[in-house]
Amino acid sequence: MREKWRLDTNLIHNKQTEDKHTGAIAQAIIPAVAYSFPDCETAADAVSGKKEAIYYGRYGNPTLRTLEAKMAVLENGESALGVSSGMAAISIALLTFLQQGDHLIVTKDVYGGTHKFLTTLAPRFGITFDFVDCTTLDNIQQAVKSNTKAVYIETPSNPLLTVLDIEGIAKLTNRYGIPLIIDNTFMSPYLQKPLDLGADIVVHSATKYLNGHGDVIAGFVIGKSQDIKFMRQNLMGDLGQVLNAWDSFLILRGLKTLGLRVERHCSNAQKIAEFLEEHPLIEKVYYPGLPSHPQHELAKKQMKGMGGIVSFELKGGIEAGKSFINALNLAMISFSLGDPETLVQHPATMTHSSIPANERINFGITDGLIRLSLGLEDSLDIIDDLEQALSKVNYLVTSSF
Ligand code: PLP
Repeated sequence: MREKWRLDTNLIHNKQTEDKHTGAIAQAIIPAVAYSFPDCETAADAVSGKKEAIYYGRYGNPTLRTLEAKMAVLENGESALGVSSGMAAISIALLTFLQQGDHLIVTKDVYGGTHKFLTTLAPRFGITFDFVDCTTLDNIQQAVKSNTKAVYIETPSNPLLTVLDIEGIAKLTNRYGIPLIIDNTFMSPYLQKPLDLGADIVVHSATKYLNGHGDVIAGFVIGKSQDIKFMRQNLMGDLGQVLNAWDSFLILRGLKTLGLRVERHCSNAQKIAEFLEEHPLIEKVYYPGLPSHPQHELAKKQMKGMGGIVSFELKGGIEAGKSFINALNLAMISFSLGDPETLVQHPATMTHSSIPANERINFGITDGLIRLSLGLEDSLDIIDDLEQALSKVNYLVTSSF
C-alpha cells in the first residue's frame, strides 16, 4: 500500500511512522553499539546472517536501518546500504564486483575522488581499468575485455555535466552479463532512477542533495538484496564504514524537503545557465537544460529535471577565471555541492587537482573551467553577484584578445 504513494509523499512518510511508545513523529536517534539477545542461539543466528538482526554498531543501527529502507524505496531498489561517505559507497560497490585480475570500464569524466581511488588504490589489488568516452555505445563495446567485471558511470558527470544513455548502456552490459554501477549524486532519486532504466547498482554521495544542508558526510549503495548483504557483512562492516545514528537522523530530516529543494536548485540553475550563455564574457556553458548541450534531448528523456550544477568557461582563461571566483561575494568558494548556499569552485586546482594536467585536459576539464552549485537563494541575487564579479574581470578578458 505504502509503495503506491507518489515520490513527494514517500519522501515524508515511507518507512516512517510515529514512535509506538511515545507518539513522537520525528525519527528516534538510537546510537546503541551493543544489542542484547534472549539466548546464545539467537545471537549466533544474528551474527551468521541466518536471521536478520542488528547485533553490533559497526554493522548498522536502527536509525540507519530506517533510512536504508527509505532509500531503497526512493531508488526502487530491493535494498540499500548507508555508509560513512560517498567514497565509501563507491569503493564498496567497486570492490564487491572486482578482485585481483579483473578489469573495469569507467566513464572518462568522473568525480576526482573516484579517479584517485582507481588510479592509486585499485592497482595495488591487481585491478585494471580503462577510462572510456561512454557517450557512444560502440566505445564501451570495444573496451570490453574477457576479464571486464563492471562498468562504472556518472551521469550527469562531475564537473562537465556529460549525460550518458543509461538505458542503452544497461542493455549492452546486460548482454555481457556485466553489472552497471551508476553514481546518481548529481540527480538524487528525485530526478533520475537508474535502476528503473536497467542499471544494477546506484551509488550516492549523500553529503550533497540527499542530506542537503552541508553538515553530514555520508553515502549509499542501492541494489539487489544479496549484493547489499555481501557489502554490509564483508566490506562496510569489516572495513568499519558504518553511518552513525545521528547523521542518519539528519539525512532522514533532510530527505523530507528533497523535492522542494531540488526543484529550486533546478530552477535557479536553469536561470543562471541562460544568463551565462547570453553573457559576452562567457566562452562556453555546460548545463543539460540548455538546448545547446550535446545531450539535451537525452537529458529530457531520462531526467525529471536538469539538476543544480552549471559549469562554464570564462573568456581569458585561468587568470580571468580565478579573479572572477575571487570577486564573488554571495557565492562561496567551496569543494562541496548540493547545499542551500551557492558554491563555486575551480576543478583544475580543487576537486580534480589529483588528476595529472594532461589527463585532466584530455577529459575536457580545462584550466579555465568553473563549477557552480546553485543554492536556494533568490536567483536575482545570484545573477547580481555573477554580474558584479564579471564586470571586475572585464579588463582581463578584453586584454587577452
Ligand atoms: N560522487 C560525486 C559525483 C561527488 O561529487 C562526490 C563528492 O564531491 C563524491 C561522489 C564523493 O562523496 P563524499 O565526499 O561524500 O565521499
